[in-house]
Amino acid sequence: MEEEESYDLIIVGAGPAGATSAIYGARYGLKVAFFESVDPISQLTLTPTIENFPGYEGNGFELIQKMKEQAERFGAIHKFENVNDIKRESGKFLIYSDNGVYSAKAVIIATGGKHKELGIPGEKEFVGRGVSYCATCDGNFFRGKKVLVIGGGNTAVEEAIYLKEIGCDVSLVHRRDELRADKAYQNELFKRDIPVIWNSIPIRIEGENVVEKVVLFNRVKEEEFKVDTSAVFIAVGITPATDIVRGLGVERDSMGYIIVNKKQETNVPGVFAAGDCCNNPLKQAITAAGDGAVAANSAFEYIKNLGQES
Ligand code: NAP
Repeated sequence: MEEEESYDLIIVGAGPAGATSAIYGARYGLKVAFFESVDPISQLTLTPTIENFPGYEGNGFELIQKMKEQAERFGAIHKFENVNDIKRESGKFLIYSDNGVYSAKAVIIATGGKHKELGIPGEKEFVGRGVSYCATCDGNFFRGKKVLVIGGGNTAVEEAIYLKEIGCDVSLVHRRDELRADKAYQNELFKRDIPVIWNSIPIRIEGENVVEKVVLFNRVKEEEFKVDTSAVFIAVGITPATDIVRGLGVERDSMGYIIVNKKQETNVPGVFAAGDCCNNPLKQAITAAGDGAVAANSAFEYIKNLGQES
């Protein structure tokens, strides 16, 4: 069998947590590779406007690009390959990607999360024909048209604002009478007169070949009604992308988030986790970056101690 490419530290993920781990790991003098996947893609990449990352205002794609380039400048190797499995064998970790097998002394899981689905009729059928989970990716197709955004969190409000900015006739649909999004985002939403359809949940998406209508259910009036729309942007939260650690015996909570301590250590020595895939209380780019720095520091200490043991 061909010898696998070996590293001190392999980071699975290239969002703010993964890229920051790569910057710190490489600066500690470790041989580092960080892996970027398309599914799930970093949520930050898809964020149209960042206003709460200290020292930076702009879009998420640009910010993450800068972080990755910074990591590469310090010598971290960036690999655009999906990691499918991680195993522990003879004291090292084997990382199986689409393109090959790599080994590492320690790993940092920074896989973030995947968008949640509504699970209603029409959702799957109309993906790419009016149903989307990413306004930055697909909003352009609907300039000048009626669109709905589903959800009441930061992502949904951000997407609604973005769609309005690019010229869509956008309404937000939320299942309660109060948004979950931060006040600052809510203020921006209301400043732009973006209508909110309150207390309503989508129950069906309809159309001939493309999305034409969404059937909503008003939970207060307990009645169904239809809204004409060309697109439905679904932003109802994320689920952690942590299946990859199942085989390693890494502990996760009931929602699937990896359980870490203050050093971003998991219950498995040599396996660290950072960012939105962890059971941390705040899911933000800045906290993910902070987790990434801590995880890299812990991984560095772990690897240093391995050297002293041998
Ligand atoms: P989120 O905060 O979990 O919000 C999900 C929203 O979707 C909630 O309003 C929820 O309603 C609604 N929802 C959930 N399931 C639904 C269903 N089946 N049908 C209808 N509505 C449903 O998710 P998120 O907005 O994607 O944010 C994820 C995390 O990333 C959060 O921690 C957020 O703060 C963070 N984030 C931060 C920023 C930023 O600071 N720049 C930007 C984006 C995201 P309820 O409110 O009734 O539960």
